[in-house]
Amino acid sequence: MSRIAYVNGAYVPHREAQVHVEDRGYQFADAVYEVIAVRGGGLVDEAGHLARLKRSLAELRIRAPMRDTALRHVIREMVARNGVRDGIVYMQVSRGVARRDHPFPAAATKPAIVMTARRMPRFDLRAPVTGIKILTVPDIRWQRCDIKSVSLLPNILAKQQAREAGAYEAWQVDADGRVTEGASTNAWIVTKAGELVTRSASNAILNGITRLALIAIAAKLGVRLVERSFTVAEAKEAREAFITSATSFVLPVVQVDDRVIGNGEPGSISLQLREAYADHMDEAARRSA
Ligand code: PMP
Repeated sequence: MSRIAYVNGAYVPHREAQVHVEDRGYQFADAVYEVIAVRGGGLVDEAGHLARLKRSLAELRIRAPMRDTALRHVIREMVARNGVRDGIVYMQVSRGVARRDHPFPAAATKPAIVMTARRMPRFDLRAPVTGIKILTVPDIRWQRCDIKSVSLLPNILAKQQAREAGAYEAWQVDADGRVTEGASTNAWIVTKAGELVTRSASNAILNGITRLALIAIAAKLGVRLVERSFTVAEAKEAREAFITSATSFVLPVVQVDDRVIGNGEPGSISLQLREAYADHMDEAARRSA
């Protein structure tokens, strides 16, 4: 099945999909995006992702490109036309196409929307998993990390630095030595006292939809959660650690910089949450039809 992209109202072959050279997303990163996981043909936490998209757009004063019902229809069309059983849908909305100039273009300028869908091998979250390594790096981003903007240069540099150091993810660290979040994931630890800790939502992090789902899951399972920041030193002393995102799900961390976490194996609470998240994904996807 050949891939199809959605570009401003048209479904086009993926390799022919193009945006205008003066799209403000292309020239200024004046755009926002969302990634929704597809599980068994259903969408995982679509409502949460669309609510966050709306919020990102509003914070940047970019108009919604279409009504919610239309957007939900296009997302489903993309899943169907690309034959996605498991994978992701990516959507990006820019302030539109206009002659290059920093101030916002005329109010009548239409926002531009593109969407892609990608098939991925089905991931078994109940299968044994080896944990990942984290590299800590300074957080050099701006003060509105709560907006899911396509302006991702610091995140890309952090991720690349991690990969070149043999780590899977980078944890960005603020001026006070506290972890904000990963380059493309939220950061969690389980302290020696058995407390689950993740940074509270603020302008310093993206409020992950997976993060929100896991907060609800932890409450249901009776896992004690504290939303607060934690230092790199505290992370290195933690009993367990893991990362979350729509595409990484719940992924155990077994090393932070040169320090092995716990006994070097994924922790029991991390694995319990990972399994519960698998159930949540299946359930949420089933409901999305
Ligand atoms: N933080 C950042 C910086 C991200 O890019 C992402 C994923 N896009 C996340 C956190 C996790 O968000 P979600 O759970 O909604 O995928």
